[in-house]
Amino acid sequence: MLSLLMKTEILLPTRENIKRAAKLIRAGELVAFPTETVYGLGADGLNSTACKKIFTAKGRPSDNPLILHFANLAQVERAAKILPAAEKLFAAFCPGPLTIILPKTKFVPDAVTGGLATVGVRFPDNDVARALIKAADCPIAAPSANLSGRPSPTTPQAVYNDLRGKIEIILNGGNCQFGVESTIVDVTSPVAEILRPGAVTKEMLEEILGEIKVAPSNAAKPRAPGMKYTHYAPKVPLTLIETSTPDELEKIFRREIKNLRAENKSVGVMASHELINNLDAEKIFPVPYGRRGDLKSIAANLYESLRTFDDLPAQIILAEGVDDNGLGVAIMNRLRKAATLIKA
Ligand code: AMP
Ligand code: MG
Repeated sequence: MLSLLMKTEILLPTRENIKRAAKLIRAGELVAFPTETVYGLGADGLNSTACKKIFTAKGRPSDNPLILHFANLAQVERAAKILPAAEKLFAAFCPGPLTIILPKTKFVPDAVTGGLATVGVRFPDNDVARALIKAADCPIAAPSANLSGRPSPTTPQAVYNDLRGKIEIILNGGNCQFGVESTIVDVTSPVAEILRPGAVTKEMLEEILGEIKVAPSNAAKPRAPGMKYTHYAPKVPLTLIETSTPDELEKIFRREIKNLRAENKSVGVMASHELINNLDAEKIFPVPYGRRGDLKSIAANLYESLRTFDDLPAQIILAEGVDDNGLGVAIMNRLRKAATLIKA
């Protein structure tokens, strides 16, 4: 059966448009909206039918749970049991790019949690997101607003490219500030555990909670169910070249480019300005992702850089890794997933 595509509008977040978006959420429909991490695809988080539409629109496996987004603490009490560790984290980092896993209440539908007894709780630090949640007057369930498996969207246009015809409204909040999804920390065990790295780093969490575990991100059955799926994948294979000295890195890139060109492959390079400036521009499709070591801007540009290759004729991407420290842990987590899970 043919399904009619709806018209998708990118709207400025005026008071009127936020009201219109909130009305759609209340009516059980989907709305894409900006957060400080990436764009979210939102639905009324206490409405099972509405949440199921998210999975259909994204092509998302139903066992990959959604995060609930809140504007204030009073709203959380209805959805989750607020454990003492969570209170400390709320005080230290919320609103901000942190999702806290807590025991759920009976009001949270299975469609949100994929049948788990826990729920992810987040307070986005973005005025449009907060205004939308307040106007809708319900927690908003929202994963990233991309087609499942693709790089998360950090611009309204990226949402449009993936979800055009499937949603009515994309609220335009410009480019996202952080560019990588929230840190996920599970505080339901005595020692808190990071399930997904993000802009709130292990060191920052340790300052508040003391000892922290880190769940392996490549486990066959990861603690954050979504981590087992293909993620962040550009449309062509990506090879990640992890960091070494700048000289060594340049040598490896030159060698790989030469070998690939000998196989008649057109090569994309996603790397620092410094590296790209030293390579022969005629032999590659260059996509600079920021200055070397400027992790904030590399994180913010990461997904748009990956999506740039959608429109380039590169057949393979060589990507420069970053140091695996601080925000670099989150960046390398995404790059490794973009690289290893795609089948050439
Ligand atoms: P996304 O919003 O697209 O970044 O995906 C949400 C991420 O949060 C996925 O990796 C989920 O597996 C994870 N997640 C959501 N709820 C839970 C939960 N209750 N327990 C563990 N992980 C969760
Ligand atoms: Mg996602």
